Amino acid sequence: MPIKTRLRADVLVVGAGMAGLTAARLLQSSGKEVLILEKGRGPGGRMASRRIGNSTFDHGAQFITARSARFSAAIMDWQRAGVAHSWCQGFSAEAGGHTRWRGKPAMNAIPKHLCQELSIQQETKIVSLGHDGKEWQVGSDNGGWFGAPNLLLTAPVPQSLELIDTGNIRLESVLRQQLQGIEYERCFAVMAELGGPSLVPAPGGFAPAEGDVAWIADNQKKGISASPAVTIHSTHAFSMAHWEADRETVGLSLIAAASAWLGEVPQSFQIHGWKYSKPRNIFPQPCVVAQQQPLLVLAGDAFAGPKVEGAALSGWAAAEAILNHKM
Ligand SMILES: Cc1cc2nc3c(=O)[nH]c(=O)nc-3n(C[C@H](O)[C@H](O)[C@H](O)COP(=O)(O)OP(=O)(O)OC[C@H]3O[C@@H](n4cnc5c(N)ncnc54)[C@H](O)[C@@H]3O)c2cc1C
Repeated sequence: MPIKTRLRADVLVVGAGMAGLTAARLLQSSGKEVLILEKGRGPGGRMASRRIGNSTFDHGAQFITARSARFSAAIMDWQRAGVAHSWCQGFSAEAGGHTRWRGKPAMNAIPKHLCQELSIQQETKIVSLGHDGKEWQVGSDNGGWFGAPNLLLTAPVPQSLELIDTGNIRLESVLRQQLQGIEYERCFAVMAELGGPSLVPAPGGFAPAEGDVAWIADNQKKGISASPAVTIHSTHAFSMAHWEADRETVGLSLIAAASAWLGEVPQSFQIHGWKYSKPRNIFPQPCVVAQQQPLLVLAGDAFAGPKVEGAALSGWAAAEAILNHKM
């Protein structure tokens, strides 16, 4: 249904991934009226899960780790809320590292939990932005218009830059160069239903040392799928070489490359391509104020580390930059 009315808030947040959600929650709890604009059908971005028949797959982020006290405390909250669960301490025989957390029942449970009590317009892809010197006006592909004095962009950096260019927003030249220099890995995620148990070793995740497969997970051994179901991630090199190829053929190649861990030929599969999977280089600050008036801030995992934790730390930093901003 096209949105015709213009909605206003104190802060518009583009993107309901971990960075956008952590920022929105902190802003809202500090008294700001926040509106999140998300192009997807649900929240989470790269924290993605999918149901196919009886099977459940995490096909983006596979697990969460915490190095900082702030993010550890957030995971403890999610555990208490029943949406995060300890998966393992690592994936090799001598695993004894820090805890790998998974979502419960699956990874997207965490962003769904974070969304509670936030205002989100889903299936709303922002395609244009501009301002009148005081207030941002952003437009969506379904005819919506949204206004606010503060704008936070949390999409992968090339997508945020594309949006900035729609509004002819001039960025300081060193900043633009830095942002243009941020590159991302690509990744195909194959989600394959199996007729019997896979050969992926316990606890259900494995990163081969060579070949086209970067990671393979058994979602049943992981504890999120009722029936045998594997997620296969391709390497960046394979993804780049085959990005334009027919997806069915790409999926079959990756299934062949993973055959040693499958046990049997999959009954069916789906494939998703992550064009911006993980940033290969990180901006030197946890968020960036790209323009003061009206305020424009960029955040996401490219600003504080190529993981869910980095995205959360960046979201919090962006919220603090907005709260501390003096007109
Ligand atoms: C295959 C894969 C495996 C991974 N494995 C791990 C792992 O095991 N552990 C780990 O910690 N991390 C992992 N990561 C990385 C982790 O998922 C990310 O670092 C983190 O989720 C990024 O969050 P974000 O909020 O910065 O970005 P995103 O999650 O990408 O969120 C950005 C949001 O913006 C939305 N958006 C974009 N453009 C627009 C627009 N124009 N209008 C409206 N909305 C828009 C998108 O739909 C998306 O929801 C993995 C990622 C991938 C893809």
